Amino acid sequence: NNVYTHQEKKNLPCCKSLYATTVLQTGNNLSCFIYSDVFLWAFIRFASYSLTYTSMAMYAFHQAAVAGGTTMILDFVIPQNGKSLLEAYDRWRKTADSKVCCDYSLHVAVTWWSDKVKEEMETLTKEKGINSFKMFMAYKDVFMLQDDQLYAAFAQCKEVGAIAQVHAENGDLIAEGAKKMLSMGITGPEGHELCRPEEVEAEATQRAITIAHAVNCPLYVVHVMSKSAAKVVSDARRDGRVVFGEPIAAGLGTDGTHYWNKDWAHAAAFVMGPPLRPDPSTPGYLMDLLANQHALMCFGILTCGQRQLHQDPNGVNGVEDRMSVIWEKGVHSGKMDENRFVAVTSSRIAKNSDADVVIWDPKMTRKISAKTHHQAVDYNIFEGMECHGVPVITISRGKVVYEDGQLNVSPGHGRFIHRKPFSEFVYKRIKQRDQVSKEPPVPVIFPKNVENVDIRSFTLKIHIFFHIFKL
Ligand SMILES: [Zn+2]
Repeated sequence: NNVYTHQEKKNLPCCKSLYATTVLQTGNNLSCFIYSDVFLWAFIRFASYSLTYTSMAMYAFHQAAVAGGTTMILDFVIPQNGKSLLEAYDRWRKTADSKVCCDYSLHVAVTWWSDKVKEEMETLTKEKGINSFKMFMAYKDVFMLQDDQLYAAFAQCKEVGAIAQVHAENGDLIAEGAKKMLSMGITGPEGHELCRPEEVEAEATQRAITIAHAVNCPLYVVHVMSKSAAKVVSDARRDGRVVFGEPIAAGLGTDGTHYWNKDWAHAAAFVMGPPLRPDPSTPGYLMDLLANQHALMCFGILTCGQRQLHQDPNGVNGVEDRMSVIWEKGVHSGKMDENRFVAVTSSRIAKNSDADVVIWDPKMTRKISAKTHHQAVDYNIFEGMECHGVPVITISRGKVVYEDGQLNVSPGHGRFIHRKPFSEFVYKRIKQRDQVSKEPPVPVIFPKNVENVDIRSFTLKIHIFFHIFKL
């Protein structure tokens, strides 16, 4: 009775379906995807006011996770611009704690900047178990921070021992691109990609890395979706920067050619920001980087493919299929071995944790489909993909919560996991760099008797000037 049947699941109010229905019914210009930044977020606000909706969908979301072999979720608290981070966090905990059926923790977004935000970041890290904050470089006039605000937010992350996360896309360029698309009469899902091409993502990624380096703050670039942005991250890592890039299941398992599909509903199902890229070699490229142990990318340390489907029409499914997609595209294809699979999907979280275990059958296959998945959405972007590697049993906190296709979960079984500041994994190198880079300023020696010195030298003239004016 705590598990949704497929029929009940289909009746859950998924934002994206609601959104699509609204769009199809109203058919007006506001519904076009080019307005997505402002319009979608306005829609999210409207939708997330319904607490019942949020908690029901949250429960379904966690069920989907354990069915896919994921035993911990990191979700995003996104306070509205101008609103308290702490209050948003408290609201989330109140809704989630009694509902979650596997362990979870939270990232908190910094969507505006003030002394109060700065203080609240400290409280969240010291008292509330938060050690990661997400900043948006896109969503202009809604969540976007300017460079000086990013600098301040990153500096505060460093101060309190958190990792800075960024949504790296140039929001100003997207806004201009959107105007251009509209003037050309392009309003469909393909316009979503066209107004935010790869370089918009790569530029913001580079800028975020530069700003983080200026304050020596560790950086985590969430949802790296393009080859060019991935290259920026991997180059920075090779240069020794403490930066992590996160590909998501969607980016590894499919591509942006779907935006040009003639079936509007199909194309719309793939809309997310940053978008999937139409270059079909992108997923393979991202998987190559993920498979490389040393230089390149991290996956699933903090999040991966866990789009907030229950909240976000501008997002795609991934939580249930992430493990299978990586196995299929990574291990089955021969790009990574089983150990690397464990390293990128689980081990860093599982260490020192309780009995969360997934028993994996590498020989079993399954076909991904919206007809059989547990996610509260009526579509699946991996529809029809045949996957080798299937979770057979999932154990959460020592209890079997999923076995042979059957869920056995109860709301409130999961716990909120407090994450500590100054995590060694990211802060060890940062602290060491701080210690060794404290250089004293170069001492300047002024000449003693100015009259006796040859003043033809330009340098000495300057010294005299300083000397006379006692500067
Ligand atoms: Zn984002």
